[in-house]
Amino acid sequence: MSNVLAFNGNYGGARKGSDFLQHLERRPPELWYQGKLVENVRNFEPIRNGVETLAALYDYQWSHSDRMLETFDGKKVSRSFSIPKEKSDLFALGKALLTSAKFSQGMLGREPAYLNRSIASFAGSADFFDIGGKIFSNNIKEYFRFVRDNDLSLTHTILNPRVNRRVGPAFQHDPTVAAHVTKESDSGIFVTGARLVATLPFADEIAVFPARLMDVSDASKDYAFAFVLPTNCKGLKFICRDSIDYGLGRNNHPLSARYEEMDAVALFDSAFIPWERVFCYRDIDVCNQFYDATGATAHVTYQVVCKNIVKIEFFLGLISLMIRGSGLEAFQHIHEKMAEIWAGWQAMKAFKSASEAGARLNDFGMLVPDWSPLEAARFMFPRLYPRMVEIVQQIGASGLVTLPTSEDLDGPLRDEIDKYFQSVRLEAAEKIDLYRLAWDASVSAFAGRQVLYERFFFGDPVHMATRIFRNNKCSELMERVNNFIRDNGV
Ligand SMILES: Cc1cc2nc3c(=O)[nH]c(=O)nc-3n(C[C@H](O)[C@H](O)[C@H](O)COP(=O)(O)OP(=O)(O)OC[C@H]3O[C@@H](n4cnc5c(N)ncnc54)[C@H](O)[C@@H]3O)c2cc1C
Repeated sequence: MSNVLAFNGNYGGARKGSDFLQHLERRPPELWYQGKLVENVRNFEPIRNGVETLAALYDYQWSHSDRMLETFDGKKVSRSFSIPKEKSDLFALGKALLTSAKFSQGMLGREPAYLNRSIASFAGSADFFDIGGKIFSNNIKEYFRFVRDNDLSLTHTILNPRVNRRVGPAFQHDPTVAAHVTKESDSGIFVTGARLVATLPFADEIAVFPARLMDVSDASKDYAFAFVLPTNCKGLKFICRDSIDYGLGRNNHPLSARYEEMDAVALFDSAFIPWERVFCYRDIDVCNQFYDATGATAHVTYQVVCKNIVKIEFFLGLISLMIRGSGLEAFQHIHEKMAEIWAGWQAMKAFKSASEAGARLNDFGMLVPDWSPLEAARFMFPRLYPRMVEIVQQIGASGLVTLPTSEDLDGPLRDEIDKYFQSVRLEAAEKIDLYRLAWDASVSAFAGRQVLYERFFFGDPVHMATRIFRNNKCSELMERVNNFIRDNGV
């Protein structure tokens, strides 16, 4: 392994939470929060709980090692790095991804498994990176081994800031806004400029991947690259949004106080990227095919569908408890709402199964789940998720804002709270716990950010719909309907 892909840790495979925390302490990224440099990232109050949660996920993989880990070269490594060759590999991967998502009820969009699926797909299709005459396949294979064997977490950014949305980064009034290459040397490239959202800026590494569908022009080549860096590298800083963890603890805010992943803008200022960490460069064709040709789009979506199945299960469990607890089971519109979520759950499970059934080896010998059912899932979920949140609001109504805190429960008003906050089947304290969870899933800043995330994290849903429209001409179906018209319905 080359030096640029080495660090002092000696983890040798799947990590524990303490390994992740130590690494963060030793190599903290430069985070800016509300105008100040964060001095101690590991213990910084607005993200501390999110950091602890990510560490706990690394421990969880060991307590669920039968599903989440596999043995490779005598070491236990995360199964989320698997490069499947056979259906049995894909099924085992699916089980691992579902198990991992259950850790956070599907609320951690940037759990490491998400980007592990990208990196594994690139490595499984590494020869793709050699098209265009440049030899990058070795870089991706080495990097894959580096990330898997050290079990590192990644954030990523695929979005250029678009001051003017009508043109690409090279044709902006100020073409230096978007991250671009300023210098090239024998040992690497230098990058300056911004990249938009990087969720989980306290990850170990950042992947700066091609912004989709770049203009094919010489001017755009300075923006055409894919590279990876440690998040603490010189010349890289992150500007964070306000925290959605209000700091009132898990009893009061069961989701916000656990799963604050943080979103940030990445700013590069002459950041140096050694060639070993570059996967493609100045090749717009490669950039534009990057995800689809390597199977990464399908593999990442497969992970997301697993996560979304778990997320729907959480909502189904939550609203079922609310219905029972508040005695709403007699009302028909409640049945319809529950059925709506249940049908979405069945649809997502069916999409997952169909993608497994139709999985095929790609040109590089990696098994890739069938794309069409996954694309249908990717289209549906950004519409289903806000609807589930709306249903929680419709069922919870004022119950979502009449919620004493745990401090109230422990205080002198306890007797009154016990009397006035009970529901037909729940003691006051039980109802408050349940409805606090429902509030955090549907009303809090955390809930709002989750809705925004599910609407957009995969890209603009309108563009994704256009892609479906363009790729599915439905010619046979038109022909069938035309025949029906011609034959007068016989
Ligand atoms: C919470 C959250 C977390 C995220 N995390 C990450 C991450 O970790 N890494 C990452 O790379 N990205 C991340 N994203 C960014 C995500 O990739 C983008 O939000 C997505 O690609 C849409 O781009 P945009 O936000 O610039 O929206 P815009 O492109 O600005 O779109 C805004 C609106 O304008 C419409 N619009 C824009 N252009 C057109 C057009 N030409 N024709 C018609 N309508 C148009 C869109 O449909 C949309 O309704 C995250 C986003 C969110 C919200």
